[in-house]
Amino acid sequence: MRESWLERFAETPDVLKSARLQQTVVPVLDLEIGGSEFITMAGPCSVETEFQLMATANHVRRSGARILRGGAFKPRSSPYAFQGHGLEGLKMLARARQESGLAIVTEVMSEDDVPLVAEYADILQIGTRNMENYALLEAAARSGRPVLLKRGMVATIADLLRSAQLILDNGNPNVILCERGIRTFETATRNTFDIAAVALLKQISHLPVIADPSHAAGLRELVPTLARVAVAAGADGLLVEVHPNPEKAWSDGEQSLDFAGFDEMMADLGPWINLHDMSRAKKEHGQPKRKSADTLSMEAVG
Ligand code: PEP
Ligand code: MN
Repeated sequence: MRESWLERFAETPDVLKSARLQQTVVPVLDLEIGGSEFITMAGPCSVETEFQLMATANHVRRSGARILRGGAFKPRSSPYAFQGHGLEGLKMLARARQESGLAIVTEVMSEDDVPLVAEYADILQIGTRNMENYALLEAAARSGRPVLLKRGMVATIADLLRSAQLILDNGNPNVILCERGIRTFETATRNTFDIAAVALLKQISHLPVIADPSHAAGLRELVPTLARVAVAAGADGLLVEVHPNPEKAWSDGEQSLDFAGFDEMMADLGPWINLHDMSRAKKEHGQPKRKSADTLSMEAVG
């Protein structure tokens, strides 16, 4: 890696690639995030009803998603908007996992809720508004669950890496970075999708990188194109909002794909994802993945 990147991100040495660690692979049930398989996480913004969640889970699974997303605790821009079903939502997610076999990623908003959410979720999502909530990051790290860390909407790449470093420092190596768009002067889209951040993070960090084209665009018609660009930039996977009836969604309907839209996007992404998986499998051949503590201490001794 270029010396200047090492210097520039010297504050966060453990998130950077090294001779010893080129790619972290995060295990989630029978999946690997950051491995050779591109992982699509899909589902509604909010868990609304049993029917909405089950229908979406079964549909996205058939179309190639590997992880179900859905918020039970919702950080809404308005205090009067739907705030999520909380525990009831977590229970619905657990039933959806049981029925569909998909792993679950869901947001945790408060330090106090970490033990509860960690009981139900396979991956804890830290939302954009909480990227610098250090008490929450520490609690999430110590839960032992993998953490999907969304970039703050006004956070630099260095800020994102600092929060990731904090999670590693608290004993949790399973951090997944997520680019979800940042605030700029542009208002035609909800956020500005920072594709250079995806490309740069893949070059300098060993942590898996997921792209969220839904929150980046804010408009469903842009989601498939941004998704394609993310695959081409080297992302390890996607986080996409899908709803059976986006017009009626309780949150983020404008950016949610309906089932047909999701199928179309997945079909369009197919050849790009195949290229991604093939080049990853080839790379994995010669490069060190994360090694177990035993192997590392043996190397230190030997
Ligand atoms: C979400 O994933 O629904 C969400 C609230 O995301 P963000 O924190 O990126 O706004
Ligand atoms: Mn949302």
